[in-house]
Amino acid sequence: MPVGVYIGVVSAIFTAVVTEVYCHRYLAHHAFRIRPVPARLMDLYFRVIVGTDPESWAAVHRVHHRHADTPLDPHSPVLRHPLTIVAGTPYLFAVAKRKLPANQPAAPGVWALRALLVTFYAVTCGPLQVPIMLSVHLVCYMGLGGLINTVGHLYGSKPHPAFPGYDLPLLAIPLLGHGYHNSHHAHPAAPRTGRLDPVWPLLRLGAMLGQIELDGHQPSRRRRPACCDASVSLG
Ligand SMILES: [Zn+2]
Ligand SMILES: [Zn+2]
Repeated sequence: MPVGVYIGVVSAIFTAVVTEVYCHRYLAHHAFRIRPVPARLMDLYFRVIVGTDPESWAAVHRVHHRHADTPLDPHSPVLRHPLTIVAGTPYLFAVAKRKLPANQPAAPGVWALRALLVTFYAVTCGPLQVPIMLSVHLVCYMGLGGLINTVGHLYGSKPHPAFPGYDLPLLAIPLLGHGYHNSHHAHPAAPRTGRLDPVWPLLRLGAMLGQIELDGHQPSRRRRPACCDASVSLG
């Protein structure tokens, strides 16, 4: 199999994890604090690789939380055909972004870094591997985002009936913790979405290394209803 396929898959997974940790849990929901250096590194990585700004990603996601599964939801699979969400999340994101206040456009340095990366891959892996790597990366990264937005709102159980979405713990690992999507809508600021949340060990590692502050961001055990075991920080 061409090496570009492996690089594309690995870079898509890494980019999805950066999106989940930095844009989703940190920027959109303030589930924890990140030290300035790793925060800047993830910010730059997201701008270079994804091609948009993290603040817009977080703003569009907050619109989703505020209006989930209503006509104002940017990407509801309840109101649109699920395949439209799986394949069209980037387009729907762009449409939603246009309705929000504009953030800073990409700096020239971002474009220079992009060009440097493509040149690096072309030199080290061969020019033919670049389009393969880019195609695999785009399909995997966008497909994963589309699956989270689709599966999380269509299939599973509803431990929090008053909130949108469903829990499907079997898919918690491939969906980066969004197998607990109903629990996430009920507790958006919880740093851990559920027991099988694969991002949680990374956050714990970041906390052990002193780069992430989880303390003070964990919901109180006493205030937590019994049904909410899935989406808390159990340590
Ligand atoms: Zn949702
Ligand atoms: Zn969220």
